[in-house]
Amino acid sequence: MTLSFDLTTDGARDALRARAMPAEKPSLIGLTRAELGAALIASGIVPERQAKMRAQQLWHWMYVRGVSDFAGMFNISKDLRAELDKHFTIARPEIVEEQISSDGTRKWLFRFPPRGAGRPVEIETVYIPEEGRGTLCISSQVGCTLTCSFCHTGTQKLVRNLTAEEILAQLLTARDRLGDFPDRDTPDGAIVPAEGRKVSNVVMMGMGEPLYNFEAVKKALLIASDGDGLSLSKRRITLSTSGVVPEIFRTGEEIGVMLAISLHATNDDLRDLLVPINKKYPLKELIAACRAYPGLSNARRITFEYVMLKDVNDSIEDAKGLIKLLKGIPAKINLIPFNPWPGTNYQCSDWETIEKFADYINNAGYASPIRTPRGRDILAACGQLKSDSERMRKVDRLALEAMMIAGHGEA
Ligand code: SAH
Ligand code: SF4
Repeated sequence: MTLSFDLTTDGARDALRARAMPAEKPSLIGLTRAELGAALIASGIVPERQAKMRAQQLWHWMYVRGVSDFAGMFNISKDLRAELDKHFTIARPEIVEEQISSDGTRKWLFRFPPRGAGRPVEIETVYIPEEGRGTLCISSQVGCTLTCSFCHTGTQKLVRNLTAEEILAQLLTARDRLGDFPDRDTPDGAIVPAEGRKVSNVVMMGMGEPLYNFEAVKKALLIASDGDGLSLSKRRITLSTSGVVPEIFRTGEEIGVMLAISLHATNDDLRDLLVPINKKYPLKELIAACRAYPGLSNARRITFEYVMLKDVNDSIEDAKGLIKLLKGIPAKINLIPFNPWPGTNYQCSDWETIEKFADYINNAGYASPIRTPRGRDILAACGQLKSDSERMRKVDRLALEAMMIAGHGEA
C-alpha cells in the first residue's frame, strides 16, 4: 500500500508554499558561523560586538531546534525577530510531492529557485528506515556532467550545482516531516527506528557527483556534523564518488566523512566503459588515493559500490579481480542489483549469479551486503505525475529514485 500526499492540489500546496522561501530574501541556512555573523553585521541590524553571540543563538534555533521561522525564536526580542525577517529567510524549500511506501521508505520532490539555471529545478531526496537506523539519501547536483553508461543520471546534462543551503535543506525538511527535532511529533504510523534519531545516517548518493561540487558539499556536511547544531556523527555520513581522485584526500582531510567509491569494474578497459572518469583517473591512481584516505582503519572502512551487470562484470573472475584489487584496504563491498531504465542496454545479473558473487566475496573475508529493493510501490506510483514542462520527466525520476534507493549504502 502506498500513501501518497500529492501536494499538487491547491490547498495542500498553498499550506506548504506559505512557508516556502521567497526568492528575494537571502537565506541564513548553509552559512558558516563566521559568514552568519558577517551577514548580520552587514545588514545593519546587529552591532558588531553582538554578532558572535547572535550567530550562536540563531545557529541553535536553526540547527538544534529546527525552526523555520524567526517567530519561533523565543529568546530573541520581538523587534529583532521582525528585523531578521525583513532581511533574511530560514524557510524550507517548496515540497512538490511527498510519497510514503508501505515499507516506510519516503520520497520528497523539492523545487528550488533557478539560480541562473533558467527555470526552477527539482530534485529528490529519499529516506530509508531500517532496523536501528534511518538513512537519508541526498543529492549534490541537478544532473551530472559524468556519463557512466549504466546510470540514467549520466544521460542528463548538468543543470546546476546545488548550494550548501539546498543540500542542507534536504536534511532539515526530511527531519521536519519525520518529527525529528526536539518537541516534535513523529507522524502517526511512520516507520522509523525504534530508538534515537529518525535520520541517523546521511549518504551523498543521490543525483550528481559530490566532488564536482566540493565547496558546497563541504560546507553543508560540516554544518550537518557540527556538534553544537545538527550534530550528525561524521561516521554516519557517507560521500559517494565515481572517483574524482584529486579531491579524495581533501574529502578526508577537510570534511572527514566516510568514503564510498563507485567502483563497478576491476580493470581499466571495462571501467573506462562503465565509469568514463576512469580514463582521466585510472584504477591505479584511484586505489592509491583510497589507500591514502585520512583516518582509514578497520573501524573506518571505505565502501566499494559494485553494480551487478549481467555478463558484463559479474563473473567469478571479476570477483577474484575485486578481491585482488582491494587487498590491504579496509573495505566493505556493496553489491547493487542494476536498476534498468528505458533505453539502457544493460541488464541486471541473475539472482543466482549475484549470490555466487557475494559468496565468493564473503569467503574472502568481506561483508558484502546486497541491497534489497525498497520502496518499490512508490516507484510505481510515480505514474500519477502530470506532464508539466517544469517537472522532472517521469522516466528521469523513476531511474533516479531506483538508483538512490538501491545505492543507499551500508554506512
Ligand atoms: N555520483 C556519485 C553519487 C551517486 S551514488 C557516484 O557515482 O558515486 C549512487 C550509486 O548508484 C553509485 O554507485 C552509482 O554508480 C549507482 N548507480 C547509478 N545508476 C544505477 C543503476 N541504474 N542501478 C544501480 N545502481 C546505479
Ligand atoms: Fe554521475 Fe554518479 Fe551517475 Fe556516474 S553514477 S553519471 S557520477 S550520478
